[in-house]
Amino acid sequence: MNIITKDKTIYAMCADNPPALTVTAGSRIIFETLDALSGQITNENDAFDGLDWNRVNPATGPLYVQGAEVGDVLSVTIEKIEIADRGVVLCGKDMGALGHLFDKSHTKILPIADGRVIFSDEIDFPVNKMVGVIGVAPEKSLGAISCGVPCAHGGNLDCKKITEGATLLLPVNVPGALLALGDLHAAMADGEIGVSGLEVEGRVTVTVDVLKNANLPTPMLRNATHIMTLASHEDLDIAVDMSVENMAKYLMAEKGMSLADATMLISLTGNVRICQVVDPKKTARVEMTL
Ligand code: CA
Repeated sequence: MNIITKDKTIYAMCADNPPALTVTAGSRIIFETLDALSGQITNENDAFDGLDWNRVNPATGPLYVQGAEVGDVLSVTIEKIEIADRGVVLCGKDMGALGHLFDKSHTKILPIADGRVIFSDEIDFPVNKMVGVIGVAPEKSLGAISCGVPCAHGGNLDCKKITEGATLLLPVNVPGALLALGDLHAAMADGEIGVSGLEVEGRVTVTVDVLKNANLPTPMLRNATHIMTLASHEDLDIAVDMSVENMAKYLMAEKGMSLADATMLISLTGNVRICQVVDPKKTARVEMTL
């Protein structure tokens, strides 16, 4: 079995990162992942203010996929997500949607048992496992982009739909694509408003493939029922418009629709959702039934 261990960690996606592993298209690979804080918080008294920010948002990789050439699309199917039995959730001053209401940071370490997150004695809820950071190297001219930033190459998309059974479609900007992923969440809701999901270590099994001449408005996501276009921008309004435009492009290219018909169909059946509003760029998506 192909495996990339969690000591093969990068903090920025970049054309110059040396591959941790090389595989052929169609391969199945396990990525072992650190949590988004590189395991720096081990109890609820650890001061979030003392974090080494250079070790936040690690991704495991990168993976070189043979045959992936510039202009292709990399297909990444999330086969399985295995998570640790506890996770970390944070909020606090200047972080997230309510950061202005806090004067310090707060940390909770929550147990995960029998597929449920134990939030308190009174509250527990089902896990919602997902991959927060997943992307490929950006175009060489863009240099290195921190794994904390979501963009056209993927990155810190923090989209709860990137979960078991889903296939993420990413652009190939450099030979081999250089896929990396990490930042697993045991649970996270649309918005991720407090600045974190339930951050956990774990393992992700994926299958990678290369699509030639695909001409898809990446990043895109498919699952059993929906197709989604994702877009990220500092301004959420613009991220929404970009994700909608990408869906229109997809419908025009793949379904032969006119711009007017695509727009009308999205207006009637495409749900605009928010992935997250707390990263350096905010991420929106449009979901349409297959
Ligand atoms: Ca994240």
